[in-house]
Amino acid sequence: MRRGDGRLSHDLLPGEAPPQDECGVFGVWAPGEEVSRLTYFGIYALQHRGQESAGIATSNGEQLLVYKDMGLVSQVFDDQTLSALQGHIAVGHVRYATTGASAWENAQPTLGPAGSGTVALGHNGNLTNTRRLMELVREQSGTDLSGELGRGSSTDTAVITALLSGTAGEGTGSLEATAMSVLPLLEGAFSLVFMDEHSLYAARDPHGFRPLVLGRLQRGWAIASETAALDIVGATFVREIEPGELVVVDEDGLRSQHFAKPSPRGCVFEYVYLARPDTQIAGRSVNAARSEMGRVLAREHPVEADLVIPTPDSGTPAAIGYAQESGIPFAQGLVKNAYVGRTFIQPTDTIRQLGIKLKLNPLREVIAGKRLVVVDDSIVRGNTQRALVRMLREAGAAEIHVRISSPPVKWPCFYGIDFATRAELIANGMSIEEIRASLGADSLGYISTDGMIEATAVPRTRLCTACFTGEYPVPVEDAEGSAERRDYQVLPPRHPGSLTIAGAQ
Ligand code: SF4
Repeated sequence: MRRGDGRLSHDLLPGEAPPQDECGVFGVWAPGEEVSRLTYFGIYALQHRGQESAGIATSNGEQLLVYKDMGLVSQVFDDQTLSALQGHIAVGHVRYATTGASAWENAQPTLGPAGSGTVALGHNGNLTNTRRLMELVREQSGTDLSGELGRGSSTDTAVITALLSGTAGEGTGSLEATAMSVLPLLEGAFSLVFMDEHSLYAARDPHGFRPLVLGRLQRGWAIASETAALDIVGATFVREIEPGELVVVDEDGLRSQHFAKPSPRGCVFEYVYLARPDTQIAGRSVNAARSEMGRVLAREHPVEADLVIPTPDSGTPAAIGYAQESGIPFAQGLVKNAYVGRTFIQPTDTIRQLGIKLKLNPLREVIAGKRLVVVDDSIVRGNTQRALVRMLREAGAAEIHVRISSPPVKWPCFYGIDFATRAELIANGMSIEEIRASLGADSLGYISTDGMIEATAVPRTRLCTACFTGEYPVPVEDAEGSAERRDYQVLPPRHPGSLTIAGAQ
């Protein structure tokens, strides 16, 4: 049965969608555990990374099963489906579409034949050489595409699955050997969790754009996009999957090999907005990084005001940091209607006109007559902040000083985050003063790029900052829509370098 896809908020508030991550992945190898339920809670903890579809694959050592559908984790799975997913290995996935439409055919885990068995794969990231890889698949298979591509999937993940299925030639042996020959061919961002009937695999691109971590369960191993998902299933964080590393877990234990030399460029936007605040990346607490961004912002853009309020929830840690550094009291001036984007009614014109009020409601007694510092994590198109400023004025705010804990977003992301086209980005072609006037704020201040980087405690040379600086660590000329992207600065390329039963595909 097709279910709602969780996107009502986008339909209600056109042009106001925040930056979207495009996926969360989770994997577990744990004999004697209910791996489908562990995976359910793992991807539930990663729901913020994708709300369009969810899926889980399991294996009992002989047969691989996949269940996936459109919708939130809690809508896709119930007790009956989780009970049907038996075994000791599982991978799970939540998806937000960047490559390929939001459709059942593109939901993950994807499936394909692998040697004498089957591969099920979940991907977080976005490849930048998908066309070339697709040509490779076509060279091997001609126009008669099988697997996910044959079933109508249009994602880079389906192309990876086809390559792992051995359609590219060399991969006729074990999945591990095939992966070692296929992974060096992939360019762009990929944090992969995949499995066959006997083993769990995790791989991360040489730049490590997207996070991927390894955890220890009492009776096995877990792999997740974020440490918070490990915490929630009771796994102890062991280490990050290294950039350029392939990890395999099976009955012989855990082993690791590198398919490429690491050249770390972790996504700085994970610290700004994407990751959960209770996650750690590269040893740094995301919440601590966000609070520090607020402190830096207070030093860089001080203002006389009565209250610091966040745009809930993502602006909260930076607002707390701003309040601590400035000495201006922190207050909750807006209440978030947390579940509005997760209901499945058809929006009417009347409902659309309510706009941001459906998501945020001002606490008039807190903000009336006050000079406010309003802290948010980022501005993409500016529609949300414009509506917010208007709402706060209507609620009686005396002054509104907008402070943003990331620099102006001027460039699109090709490594897995869906901001907007370059033309839609408000900071593309507008000065800070013009943006301030457009928002209707009394003042506007963005953190500097150096200040944001300092707050992550990660050296600049190990971060991707492309959406702020235009410095792309991986060439993007192969990405779709390249006409708009020709003026990018390109850094030197990295070194060369409803229930589906698998097997019936
Ligand atoms: S372009 Fe921006 S969002 Fe994309 S990986 Fe780089 S820092 Fe992250």
